[in-house]
Amino acid sequence: MLPVICFDVLTLFPSIFDGFLSESVLKRALITQKIEVRLHNMRDWAKGRHATMDDRPFGGGPGMLLKVDCVAPCVEEIQHRQEPPGRLLMFTPQGRCFNQKFAEELATEQRIVMLCGRYEGFDERVAEILNPEEVSIGDYILNGGEVAAMVVIEAVMRLISGILGDENSNRLDSFSIDNRILDCAHYTRPREYRGFSVPEILLSGNHAEIAQWRKNNSLQRTKEKRPDLLTPDLLTTASNNSPLKTETLFSQFSITKDKKQSK
Ligand code: SAM
Repeated sequence: MLPVICFDVLTLFPSIFDGFLSESVLKRALITQKIEVRLHNMRDWAKGRHATMDDRPFGGGPGMLLKVDCVAPCVEEIQHRQEPPGRLLMFTPQGRCFNQKFAEELATEQRIVMLCGRYEGFDERVAEILNPEEVSIGDYILNGGEVAAMVVIEAVMRLISGILGDENSNRLDSFSIDNRILDCAHYTRPREYRGFSVPEILLSGNHAEIAQWRKNNSLQRTKEKRPDLLTPDLLTTASNNSPLKTETLFSQFSITKDKKQSK
């Protein structure tokens, strides 16, 4: 069976991925060949006796840069080893911010090639020559792109059919295709713990009312925690396709503090 998606990771530190790839859902997806992850040590493309991959920046300044004459041939060779050459991502804090919609877009690809930087990053000509998509996982600075590659692999593989136990569970998660706002609160046994009870409605067996409660709760917590997600089109979806203003929508849903209702 051919894997649905192949990730090629170009890194100076492939062993960082050892634990990540050998546990839980990812391990299973690799064993069942739903996905494939190939790690390439960029140092194999380094030149000279010391296999040097980095050098000082022209003009001075701190740190070292990954050399274009090592990185470019490495990427080109890996991309052309097999078809398709894949979508080439280069991790940099200056790139397009990775999010769930971006993950959904990548999940439609057959192959993703990911270039992990280190030190002060890449010689600028790497981007000029290879024209990769520059991708950031957030506005902070990591030591290298390996954690970013793990973030992309994990977010994308969850979306591949047959990988999660419940086919639909990833569609209702926060930010996801059927629920671009936050997921609702979830509870399991015990029904009561330290005076905190499970909302009665969830124990009622009334599926229509439970669905309505979840929608209400999802909207309520989005309004409280991430009001920026409540764009007009989401408000339309959330209100059964009738466009409503935010205030009108929220007045439809009673806002209650469920956690302490038994007290
Ligand atoms: N000098 C670079 C800058 O300020 O833009 C930062 C270099 S960073 C220390 C080294 C490498 O870590 C980068 O080349 C990139 O591959 C990776 N990296 C760091 N932060 C990242 C982020 N937020 N998203 C994606 N990759 C990141």
